[in-house]
Amino acid sequence: MTAVEVQLAAVDISDEGVEQSGNAVADEAALKKAEANRKKREAKKAKKMAAKGTTAAGDETAEEASPTDGTPKGRWDRGLLPGGRAERRSTGQNRGMGVFAKEAIAKGEVVAAAPPALSVIFEPAAQIVCSFCFDQLPLKDMTSEHVVSLKTSEGSFGVVLDDMIPKGAEQPVAVVTRITTTSANRGIVRVGDRFVAVRGTPIGGGHVAAVTLLKAALEAGASEVEVTVARPAALRCHGCDRVAVCERCAGEGRMQWHNAECAVFQQLPEAATKGRDTSTLRMLLRHKVTTHPSVGEWCATKEPAELLGSLQANPCDVPPAQLDALSKMTGNSLATTLNIIGQIRTNACQIIRGNAKVGCALSVLMGWHNHDCSPNAASVIGPSGEVSISALKDIAEGDEVTISYVDVRDECATRKKTLMQHYGFECKCARCTEELRQELKQRMKEANSYRAGQRR
Ligand SMILES: [Zn+2]
Ligand SMILES: [Zn+2]
Ligand SMILES: [Zn+2]
Repeated sequence: MTAVEVQLAAVDISDEGVEQSGNAVADEAALKKAEANRKKREAKKAKKMAAKGTTAAGDETAEEASPTDGTPKGRWDRGLLPGGRAERRSTGQNRGMGVFAKEAIAKGEVVAAAPPALSVIFEPAAQIVCSFCFDQLPLKDMTSEHVVSLKTSEGSFGVVLDDMIPKGAEQPVAVVTRITTTSANRGIVRVGDRFVAVRGTPIGGGHVAAVTLLKAALEAGASEVEVTVARPAALRCHGCDRVAVCERCAGEGRMQWHNAECAVFQQLPEAATKGRDTSTLRMLLRHKVTTHPSVGEWCATKEPAELLGSLQANPCDVPPAQLDALSKMTGNSLATTLNIIGQIRTNACQIIRGNAKVGCALSVLMGWHNHDCSPNAASVIGPSGEVSISALKDIAEGDEVTISYVDVRDECATRKKTLMQHYGFECKCARCTEELRQELKQRMKEANSYRAGQRR
């Protein structure tokens, strides 16, 4: 029995895995088609492997589906913020819902943090910023060497190898393109790892050479085989050329998650993607894939994308033809498409790395907090890629937690104008009320002295 499964198609490493379908439109049908194509490939592979006497790969759908117990999602649904220090509930006034501290939170402490519901890295930074945690990536094809101990389960390593030629090299190397759900080596090897040596013997070739050495070790009676791997510091998707993931995110299976959205992206008409800024399109696509039952969220603790729909969308005018095209291409309804575009245009928070705007994100946490021109908390996208709400002042239990949607250094009239234009409300916070009162007082004083001057 051959212990190592071999596959040739994998979107994350080579670009052979996805069928190009000219100008297909990525609606529900396209997603289904992508899924069907994937199944077809799986079946073909299984048949091929069966013919070779190898075992078929595991169920990838189960592998890609996110949260198992649904608990974090359940907590969000109940309005409990991650970490449990604050909750969303009615303000009890006519200001709708707000976030309230469930315990005292000291100045500087984190109120809540989670990766944002939706995000996108703009084209110019797509190769140098991780698409999931926004870490800056090394430009070069850097790897670090690790020695791992590969285990077998029922005679199989459950690791799928393929050939790749690293940048600047001439010889192919064996690269891990997939790890099956039943593999004993999940967490030991990662997708993207390149096999360098088996038990200290250099492989000196691609997956065929690697398999030969692994088989020899098994035939010699080994239950574990020491393999030296070169682990890349970043994986770049050659399917869409717009997504890269850091080593840590790769280890957590994010590139495998990306394959689902990449498959749909690659079916979009060339006119919509080639040489264009596709950030809005990709954000809409990510929304569709994330809320699609066959794929789901890429991580269980992130903000659930479907909650974005519960946030107030700001009015925006998108030409009907453009709206219609975006809705059809991404498979989101017209209402959802308009809602998300509205949020991107006004609510999106910038992802800044190395002093540059590299992308933007839509956050449920930020949207849940009400605005105040003298807020007791602030929101940032921290170095870990999470949206983090942190206390600017000591917050008492039961206090409402507020953030500012505008630059608090702006003067009252400017703040009010921005809030009305972008968020459609008139700010009546304590600071605005006080500043307005002072201004009126000043004006009355001026008017009085003017009248007094006239009487003289
Ligand atoms: Zn990352
Ligand atoms: Zn891709
Ligand atoms: Zn105000």
